[in-house]
Amino acid sequence: LFAAVELAPRDPILGLNEQFNADPNPAKVNLGVGVYFDENGKLPLLRCVQQAEQAMAEAPKARNYLPIDGIAAYDAAVQKLVFGDSAAVRDGRIATVQALGGTGALKIGADLLHRMNPEAKVLISSPSWENHRALFESAGFVVSSYPYYDPATRGVDVDGMVGALEQAAPGTIVVLHACCHNPTGCDLLPADWDRVVAAVQSRNLVAFIDMAYQGFGDGIAEDGAAVHRFLEAGVGFFVSTSFSKSFSLYGERVGALSVVCESKEEAGRVLSQLKRVVRTNYSNPPTHGAQIVTNVLTSPELRALWEDELAGMRGRIKKMRAMLAERLQAAGSTMDTSFITRQRGMFSYSGLNAAQMQRLRDEFGVYGVDSGRICVAALNEGNIDAVVAAMVKVA
Ligand code: PMP
Repeated sequence: LFAAVELAPRDPILGLNEQFNADPNPAKVNLGVGVYFDENGKLPLLRCVQQAEQAMAEAPKARNYLPIDGIAAYDAAVQKLVFGDSAAVRDGRIATVQALGGTGALKIGADLLHRMNPEAKVLISSPSWENHRALFESAGFVVSSYPYYDPATRGVDVDGMVGALEQAAPGTIVVLHACCHNPTGCDLLPADWDRVVAAVQSRNLVAFIDMAYQGFGDGIAEDGAAVHRFLEAGVGFFVSTSFSKSFSLYGERVGALSVVCESKEEAGRVLSQLKRVVRTNYSNPPTHGAQIVTNVLTSPELRALWEDELAGMRGRIKKMRAMLAERLQAAGSTMDTSFITRQRGMFSYSGLNAAQMQRLRDEFGVYGVDSGRICVAALNEGNIDAVVAAMVKVA
């Protein structure tokens, strides 16, 4: 039966983790992961999450199936977080479904879009989170990319990006990173977003905003600003939300997909189609993680605690960026390190090439992705000097 089944390629990042785990070097550092670690190198369990779980344990509930679109209060809380007190929310023009993390949200959206228009092209950033291409291809689309990262400036090639959007066929789906671009750490500035929104609007493109790091860049509102620009433009668009990082709830698979429509009636039809996609994939979502997030977002005390803890994670990342830049300079690095503090979020495109990244692994036990991506959120005062010393030696 399976004689003709080929071995699928290994996930590059999970493969790196396996290699890291097998490395006997006691001083090894894993900067390949897409996970936030605290100052002790530990995955945090947020206090707001602990308190919500404690309250849930004290009043245990039987667990019936959830509705296909998830916990209603969760969907409402996501809408409020992502779209604020906007007319679209008030008018009921947004269809939101609970999803299995940001990945699940992207897949539900991709499946819906494929049902709507199977011939549409999909554009992702070059480079992008490696799963974007695979997700949209597995939904049946042909995926190409728009220019994004410019190695010369270590920033965004905005002209190239906008130029590509202006050439795109109407109906093309454009996957955009709301903030904390994965893998480069390079984000669009407000004026750049204006140009992107204008191109999407004038070419009748479909924006799909992937927001996997809200609150990890400059703040909850600041990181969500792109969403509001699209709201103001009055176009229909998609937003996928992930709480994996912002709640440190990676394994609970908590996310959501929201589709902004023209009217309440249209949102009702779109929601009915989203529910069909969910029903035929996994029927309905799980309870626990989304209940935690609902309770935190809707309780004033837990919400304040979450915002505080999120600010703490964000602040620590910024501190590590500044420290990395300073210590590279102090260690005699000749490279311009200013880009490290200009970047946002967990990742930094370090500028190192694949051969240099390989040397980092083989000679120093410092694991990053061959593209040069390192996870700044995995740095701490205990490992940063070893990383800096290794980077200076291979650069
Ligand atoms: N989009 C981007 C840009 C991401 O970096 C990630 C996570 N690495 C996701 C989506 C997926 O999020 P989740 O883990 O919640 O599925």
